[in-house]
Amino acid sequence: MRGIIFVWCILSFACGQSSQQATGQIDRTAKKVSASLVGDTIPQVEKSAKQWRSELTEMEYYVLRESGTERAFTGDLWNNKKEGTYTCAGCGLALFDSETKFKSGTGWPSFYEPIGEGRIIEKEDISHGMRRVEVLCGSCGGHQGHVFPDGPQPTGLRYCINSVSLDFVPKNEN
Ligand SMILES: [Zn+2]
Repeated sequence: MRGIIFVWCILSFACGQSSQQATGQIDRTAKKVSASLVGDTIPQVEKSAKQWRSELTEMEYYVLRESGTERAFTGDLWNNKKEGTYTCAGCGLALFDSETKFKSGTGWPSFYEPIGEGRIIEKEDISHGMRRVEVLCGSCGGHQGHVFPDGPQPTGLRYCINSVSLDFVPKNEN
């Protein structure tokens, strides 16, 4: 009996070790893998608040993980006119293409359409006495902004996104 318990302990210890290692590997490569993702499988990135705090700047954490909003015209991407891809600043998932970016006059990067299905999750938001639709990253759940029904054609939607929630990858670096 004592022998069986001993073997069980060794096995549990070994399993615990290997799953920890696997999670570590996914975390380290998540940004790269997500950014180059083309198919429909969206990797699910889950991290503790402590992990996010160690990886994000204070402002990124406030917007991405606490659904904060940067002040209009203060971000570095609202007026970016270069061709390229806008990726999630939390996990690197490609979210918007520069072709769908338009001048909204709001001081936040605005797009009429995400790159593909599942990259953006929409969720009802009734905070601040308003009924709005919150927009989250489909991979890490990071807060991006809101979507409004007053955008240009072909969709008529305006994805109003925080600059700090996005990274920009210029076209020639893709
Ligand atoms: Zn993300």
